[in-house]
Amino acid sequence: MIVQFKDELYNQLLQHSLQKLPEEACGLILGEHSPSANGSLFAHALIPLHNCANDPRGHFELSPNEMIPYLTDSQNPVIGLFHSHPTAPAIPSELDLQTLWHTIPTYWILSLQHMHNPELLLYQIKKAVSTGYHKLSFVIGQ
Ligand SMILES: [Zn+2]
Repeated sequence: MIVQFKDELYNQLLQHSLQKLPEEACGLILGEHSPSANGSLFAHALIPLHNCANDPRGHFELSPNEMIPYLTDSQNPVIGLFHSHPTAPAIPSELDLQTLWHTIPTYWILSLQHMHNPELLLYQIKKAVSTGYHKLSFVIGQ
């Protein structure tokens, strides 16, 4: 999968992230699937969202109420989830991996760890099915 976007969008991500310092910025990326059906995505716009985490300097948390109108708008599909890492590399944290929104195909992280050399990385994260089961012993009594 290749994700295509213009430098305007990149600049928007950067500006939004800088504005929110020292907190993590977050938002949704709107776009579309390529008509050529080669799996490419075109990203058009950033919708900045509030970071509702108790500790917004180290985590981000989205408000479902704020997201749902975008997630249910089929005219403008959400193709990415964006957030910034003010002081960490652009790698998903443990908590990021636990709080994925699985209907969103790409995951964008902008690191401002090296302020003069911001690093944007995009991920496609596939979570293993974690629902397991095992047999329980039982006793039929009276
Ligand atoms: Zn993160």
